[in-house]
Amino acid sequence: MFIYCKGERLKSLRSAHTEYLPLPFFDFLPDFLPDSFHPAFHLFFSHAVFRAFFQSVFQSVFLQCYGQSPMTTVALKQYPSQYSATVSSADSLLETATRIANQAALRAASLDCAGAFPAEEFTQLAAAGLLAAPIHPAYGGIGLGFQSDQTGLLLQILKQIGRGNLSLGRVFEGHINGLQLVQTFGRPEQVKALAQDALAAKVFGVWNAEAADGVKIVPIGGDRYRLVGSKTFCSGCGYVERPFVNGALPDGRWQMCIVPMEKVNVEVDASWWQPPGMRASASYKVDFTGVEVTNAALIGQPGDYFRQPWLTSGVVRFAAVQLGGAEALFDATRTYLQGLGRTDHPHQQARLGQMAIALEQGNLWLQGGANKIEQYAPVFGDMPSANLEDTEDIEDMEEKADRMQLVQYCNMVRTAIEQICMDMIQLSERCIGTNGLLPPHPMERIIRDLTLYLRQPAFDASLTGIGEYVLTTKAPARDLWI
Ligand SMILES: Cc1cc2nc3c(=O)[nH]c(=O)nc-3n(C[C@H](O)[C@H](O)[C@H](O)COP(=O)(O)OP(=O)(O)OC[C@H]3O[C@@H](n4cnc5c(N)ncnc54)[C@H](O)[C@@H]3O)c2cc1C
Repeated sequence: MFIYCKGERLKSLRSAHTEYLPLPFFDFLPDFLPDSFHPAFHLFFSHAVFRAFFQSVFQSVFLQCYGQSPMTTVALKQYPSQYSATVSSADSLLETATRIANQAALRAASLDCAGAFPAEEFTQLAAAGLLAAPIHPAYGGIGLGFQSDQTGLLLQILKQIGRGNLSLGRVFEGHINGLQLVQTFGRPEQVKALAQDALAAKVFGVWNAEAADGVKIVPIGGDRYRLVGSKTFCSGCGYVERPFVNGALPDGRWQMCIVPMEKVNVEVDASWWQPPGMRASASYKVDFTGVEVTNAALIGQPGDYFRQPWLTSGVVRFAAVQLGGAEALFDATRTYLQGLGRTDHPHQQARLGQMAIALEQGNLWLQGGANKIEQYAPVFGDMPSANLEDTEDIEDMEEKADRMQLVQYCNMVRTAIEQICMDMIQLSERCIGTNGLLPPHPMERIIRDLTLYLRQPAFDASLTGIGEYVLTTKAPARDLWI
């Protein structure tokens, strides 16, 4: 099904998708019905379709009466400085992210359906200053993920958000990625303008993936360009307002481009997204044909998107979100076993031991990745105009070696965490058996989400890249990564 979206209409797509009450409320509804009621009533209220119907009626009534959804009301109470985008200290950001993740985990089951999106959670992230945090301090953020010494904090925050809801983590990670690219490759006036957008709680994203009908950026005279073609996996579609819609120039080079979604007409194919998990990431296919932008929308030089170490080192961010999903699976598995009193069986104990070891390995990999990025440069995204590929200067050769080491180390982080997550899934499934895999237990949903989200680009290339690197370097094993 194609949905035609135009500026304002995108907003109505948003409200149609977003507002779900936490399902548990409606799950318990049948329990409150007196037994004397006809069985048909009980059947009626326990049926998922009717529950969804009552949710939407309740939601609409609430919206009419209060002008905002129930969850927004909760968020506003909790964060009275709504949208002031005052970025709190690093410690409180992590605490706040953890609290938002806890609430997100409660709502995740209710968002596990086509057309859903964790919009309320984004309201909370904005209110907590987490959408503005990646901006440079000069423009009102704390440089989260941009100042290298914040990488460890960023990864902890991403892990927490992923623990709460992997779809939320996916879109939030895209927001961080987008602001990273803006601040690494944008011109000063672009950085300033887009920082204002982030302060105003606009969500960024990076929509780079495409199929055979991918986006072409065609110059049409003056400083104008017309986009032709589509993007796939556009996560946060309908909510992300500043996506990178990268495409090929006529000479084939890859150009970054930010499309202000409220100003353009696009065709959204929501039916393209029929996944077993990550449903609430709203990763639709979008046809941008006919959209016109000016030079002001183009970020960086052609080919900059692929510049290293920034492209590959960014993989530690999605690895952090994935590990958050694995933590959620650990928690849910343990709670299930404790609930059944199955904690003294040696096989269950051994599996939980393996799961704990795997999680800690993941944490150590994240810490290692953060340390490596911090060692590489104080600002993760500096020197965008240097062309280090062509230079023979000794200092630059050293920099190139550092860069390659960082890239391959980050590839190790991502590859190791993928395996850790797959091991966690297998161990959890063996622990909980068939019964534990049935809804409403959260494990099967987390497994569905994690299984899909683990599929990230160029897995083989990362693994072979590590192998190629260690085969070409002559450093002894003890010095490989120092
Ligand atoms: C929930 C979710 C949200 C996403 N959101 C976004 C988003 O917002 N923006 C975005 O840009 N992308 C997004 N993506 C897409 C993601 O970044 C990847 O592009 C996508 O998941 C890769 O799909 P794939 O595994 O089918 O890739 P493939 O490239 O088909 O890889 C599958 C396997 O084939 C191997 N392979 C790849 N090329 C070759 C080749 N030429 N020859 C032999 N083997 C090959 C790979 O190494 C891998 O092992 C999202 C993905 C998911 C799951």
